[in-house]
Amino acid sequence: AAEVTTVEPGVLTMGTNAAFPPYEYKDGDDIVGIDAEIAQAMADKLGLKLEIVDMDFDSLIASIQSGKIDMSLAGMTVTEERKQNVDFTDSYATGVQVIIVKDDSDIASVDDLQDKLIGVQQGTTGHLYCADDFGEDHVNALPNGATAVQALLQGKVDCVVIDQEPAKAFVEANEGLKILDTAYTTEDYAAAVSKDNPELTAALNKALQELKDDGTIQEILDKYIKA
Ligand code: GLN
Repeated sequence: AAEVTTVEPGVLTMGTNAAFPPYEYKDGDDIVGIDAEIAQAMADKLGLKLEIVDMDFDSLIASIQSGKIDMSLAGMTVTEERKQNVDFTDSYATGVQVIIVKDDSDIASVDDLQDKLIGVQQGTTGHLYCADDFGEDHVNALPNGATAVQALLQGKVDCVVIDQEPAKAFVEANEGLKILDTAYTTEDYAAAVSKDNPELTAALNKALQELKDDGTIQEILDKYIKA
C-alpha cells in the first residue's frame, strides 16, 4: 500500500454533499453514486478503508483545510479560485451547467434570465456564474440541489441553474419540470485535497490513472449516466 498520511490512520475520509445524484445520493443510510464508487476504488488501491461524511457543499473546502476530511469527491468543478485554497487531482469527469424550468415557463434560453429569480446551490459554480451574470439579488442560494428544485416547484424561484446530471435526475423524479437546451459551461470535476498533503494528491492521481487505464472509471460513469 502507498505511504500516505490521512486524518485517521488507515482510513480515507471523503466529504461530499449527498444530494447530487447520480454522483452522490442516499440509499437508505448509505451514500452511493459515481463519486462513492470511484472513491472506494481509489481507497482500495491505496490500501485504505473509505469513510464518507455528508455535509453542505459549501463546507467542503473549509473541512479539507481544517483537516476534518482528507478530500472531497462531490462533482466539484476545478476553478482558479478554489485552487487558491485546495489542490485538485486530475479530472475524472466533465460537468455542464444547465437551466431547469417548469413546463409552462416563459424562460426559453439563457437570454430570458434577466430580471428572473434564479435558484442555485450555495457556493457552486452555478451560483458564482449567475451572480456574476445577473447580480446577487437575482440569485436565491439554497443549501443543495434538492432544496433548489423544491423552491422551483413551490414557485419561489423562476428556474434552477445546476449541473446536468443531477438536473436530469431531479427532472425525472418530479412532474412538470424540463431542462433547457442551452448549456452554460463545460467544467472538469476532480477530487480536492489539502495543500498540506501533496503525497495524498499524488497517490490519488496514480490510483486514478490506473483506474482510467483499466476502464474502471468509464465503467462506473456508464453505470450511472445514460447517454
Ligand atoms: N459542479 C458544481 C461546483 O463545483 C456543483 C457541485 C455540487 O453541487 N456538488 O460548484
